[in-house]
Amino acid sequence: MLLPRLKNDHIPELKLNDLQNKMKDQVSGKVDKGVYEFEEIACPICSSAKNEVIGEKDRYGLFFKTNICTACGFVYTSPRMTQGAYNQFYNIEYRQLYVGKETATQAFFDGQKQKGKYIYHFLKKNKLIGDNPLFVFEVGCGAGGILDFFRKKGHKVKGIDLGKEYVEYGKNTHNLDLETATLAEMNLAEKPDIIIYSHVLEHILDINEELETIKACSKESTLTYIEVPGIKEVHKNYEANILTYFQNAHTFHFTLETLTNLFTKNGFQRISGNQFVQAVFKQATNQDKIESDYEASKSYILTTEKNRKLYPFTVRGIKRNLQKAVPVILDKTHTRGIARSLKRLLTQNRSN
Ligand SMILES: [Zn+2]
Repeated sequence: MLLPRLKNDHIPELKLNDLQNKMKDQVSGKVDKGVYEFEEIACPICSSAKNEVIGEKDRYGLFFKTNICTACGFVYTSPRMTQGAYNQFYNIEYRQLYVGKETATQAFFDGQKQKGKYIYHFLKKNKLIGDNPLFVFEVGCGAGGILDFFRKKGHKVKGIDLGKEYVEYGKNTHNLDLETATLAEMNLAEKPDIIIYSHVLEHILDINEELETIKACSKESTLTYIEVPGIKEVHKNYEANILTYFQNAHTFHFTLETLTNLFTKNGFQRISGNQFVQAVFKQATNQDKIESDYEASKSYILTTEKNRKLYPFTVRGIKRNLQKAVPVILDKTHTRGIARSLKRLLTQNRSN
């Protein structure tokens, strides 16, 4: 095992509340009894079955075996829960285990709108979107907040999601064109100019089939925007702790390179991208070869693990700890109100 710290000892890395602990034990119990079934998979990018084990648990302390493909460097979970097991897990334990996964409220919708702004500006900055009205289609749109932002910019929008509660909220409260469906079930009369997948692809079990469907729903000029949590930013976004990055709802763990390999294999080419990961693809005119990311990914994982203990002493670590400590200190000294007024004043000045 590359990271012995991630052995399957059931100990959570996150501090769990009582309900989370109960859910974690419930899932573990079902896994032990075989109620939640598992399946072995080969690398979905290069089909090789040769891999090295990275770890055996996720941040909640659930059994979660992650592997790196020695041929192409893709990091994936195997064995993993079957689709049937995941369907039950999403219905029963997911929301309570992943606290902060909110219900369909205005606050959730506003958060999505912020995300929409961020995606819009990424496309704008990379000159992938202009002022012409386009047809923007989102898979896994939740309540549709991302689409709402694009609609305000004059684009035609449509979205699909499997969460009925979210879809109904977006339809009824914000008058958005949303449906409860998968992409394969859709029969789009018009092919989209932009297809968005924001934090969706890492949850889909048959990613090659999904990409085939994207292709069938695209025209030559269609741009597919993909956003997934990137492994190579663990040192930035996960306090240099890969264990907090691994969560059992994600079965694939991408770098910009491995995401590109997946799309290349399925007949797409990358137009733009970063390690966050945000990336844009379109149909390829000629088929490129995939390039192995094994050495680079493995080296990143091992180096990040080695430097993990130094994180609190880095500039990023000091900043992060201050961000966490300041609200606590302000609460304890009853000066939070003053800080809030100060923050309001500062942001007002910035926006003026
Ligand atoms: Zn592979």
